[in-house]
Amino acid sequence: MQSGKSGTMPAIFFGHGSPGNVIEDNFFTQCWERLGCEIGKPKGIICVSAHWFTRGVRVSAATRPSTIHDFGGFTKEMHEMIYPAPGSPELAAAIAERLAPIDVELDPARGLDHGSWCVLWKAYPEADVPVVQISMDMQMLPSQHYEIGKLLGSFRDEGYLLMGSGNIVHNLPEMDWRMRDGSFDWASRFGNYIRESIVSDTPQNLVDFSSQGRDATLSVPSLDHYLPLLYVMGARRDGETARFETPIVEYGSLDMTTVVLGA
Ligand code: ZN
Repeated sequence: MQSGKSGTMPAIFFGHGSPGNVIEDNFFTQCWERLGCEIGKPKGIICVSAHWFTRGVRVSAATRPSTIHDFGGFTKEMHEMIYPAPGSPELAAAIAERLAPIDVELDPARGLDHGSWCVLWKAYPEADVPVVQISMDMQMLPSQHYEIGKLLGSFRDEGYLLMGSGNIVHNLPEMDWRMRDGSFDWASRFGNYIRESIVSDTPQNLVDFSSQGRDATLSVPSLDHYLPLLYVMGARRDGETARFETPIVEYGSLDMTTVVLGA
């Protein structure tokens, strides 16, 4: 088993975009494939996906998590795809323990949503790395999500890859299908603000993203796709450099930036 270069596994925020990427071979999916090869197989993957937003914190604890087809309007082929990665009840229990005193509910029925499996299908096509998902508590403040990321960061030293999956800018109603590789001004400004804050290692700017006013309101109309970034940034080491992959905006309002820490 190959581990991260410094012995610590990376933390990665994947800009996942459309579920349809899973049946495509494109700029984004090639990046995900390359990252999986570069990093090698971790002991396990801890994933915070935009598509699991709950009251209270839940952790998937199935031995064999199902593949959740939480999307509509896509092909029959996609609805039949199964990503058979194992779960890890042991890792789920360890996560619950490490997040104490936050109350964490282990969920043996929860499978993998498309925010996790559509990316992992490309990064780890053999589906032999255990995956555990953590839900985001919709009652928490951005600063609290960031703090949980800090607690999860310790798993990086134990061979686990921390994965966030969402999009820095995610506004589906505003998407313009004529703007294949174009960006609205507000989406560019907001994406640049986030990337600059990551480069300057100013996490408070990321927590206080709403300081960007209308740009933030349009870019983050709901918190689900943005918050996974805070978990990854919470897990950042002192002085750790960040690398951006595929920092482009699709259809005006979907920022596909992937942020890599520690690889
Ligand atoms: Zn999504």
